[in-house]
Amino acid sequence: MTTTKTADVDNTLAQVYALAGAGVDIVRITCNDRAAAEGLAEMVPRSPVPIIADIHYQYRLALAALEAGVQGLRLNPGNIRKPHQIRAVAREAKDRGIPIRVGVNAGSLDRDLMARFGSATPEALVASALKEIEYLAEEDFEDIKISVKHSHVPSMVESYRLLADTLDYPLHLGVTEAGPPPGGLIKSVAGIATLLLEGIGDTIRFSLTADPVEEAKAGRQLLEYLDLRERTGLDLIACPSCGRAEVDVLGVAQEAQAKLEEASLPIQVAVMGCVVNGPGEAREADIGIAAGRGRGHLFIKGKVVRVVPEAEMVDALLDEARRLVEEGVEARVAAADRRAARTAERDRRVLLQIQGDANQAAVRRAAVAKVAARDG
Ligand code: SF4
Repeated sequence: MTTTKTADVDNTLAQVYALAGAGVDIVRITCNDRAAAEGLAEMVPRSPVPIIADIHYQYRLALAALEAGVQGLRLNPGNIRKPHQIRAVAREAKDRGIPIRVGVNAGSLDRDLMARFGSATPEALVASALKEIEYLAEEDFEDIKISVKHSHVPSMVESYRLLADTLDYPLHLGVTEAGPPPGGLIKSVAGIATLLLEGIGDTIRFSLTADPVEEAKAGRQLLEYLDLRERTGLDLIACPSCGRAEVDVLGVAQEAQAKLEEASLPIQVAVMGCVVNGPGEAREADIGIAAGRGRGHLFIKGKVVRVVPEAEMVDALLDEARRLVEEGVEARVAAADRRAARTAERDRRVLLQIQGDANQAAVRRAAVAKVAARDG
């Protein structure tokens, strides 16, 4: 959702483009006065993505937004409560073939329902949605999407579960007023991911107190991490570091992230603190680098393909990542430096001798073998 004044067409449109660039499919813009509605009329034809007008209190602004050509409406049932007004919007939206999201929000729940349920319970939120749908149904309006957002994650999850059990409309997920990152991000992921993994939800929004582009990137990333969207950008994984680390993992990861994001490569890259465990633990990554004995060990799908001085490891990673995207895994593994795997293995063994085998694999194997060999 944009954060600019809607009447400020240039800046709002710039934000819409920035959000589209960050991977959103639709953008919601507030339509809170006449100037905003007029601004929408200018923006809609120039927007790269569909525009949804966010409507509170004034049903006439919903009608104005429809006239402006928006591709969707969000109505808040908590503050547009007169049935004839809701029906008027439904008639106009139906004539134009425009969908409506029934956007219930725990913070602005219909006061009659608050009185009836005592608080914004999941049952109260779902009741609000049902009431609105009844008004829309009176105009045979069916092009509906529903949200029941709550700022309390367990209540949000329960509200959507109840909604999904009760109705069969598309659902828009969100934890409302989640706050600034990192807390806001954690709340949003906890609520939205839980539901998506249960098969509940069709669209999502992260409501962060942050630059909306951050919201968009986070939402996009979540969908990619859940395999609900194809990866379009970098997925950097890095070990948490430990006493074995041969390099400042955080510093290397940050440098690698900055350079790889700039290169915009849609691959999974691993930054690992030591060659003892790194290439093995990150063998699923497309490409990675592990430090050891003053060297960077570059690996593709767990196979070490190059060994470079530590000071050059991030640049070498970037170079190899670019080639990997251009040429593919097989070609880059075939082009591997034949000495690299031997060097990496030597470094690994030397480090194991110096640091010891933290996993004590040989000792544990021997103990297991002894138990397995016992008679009876
Ligand atoms: S890869 Fe190495 S440094 Fe990183 S956590 Fe694992 S053992 Fe520790």
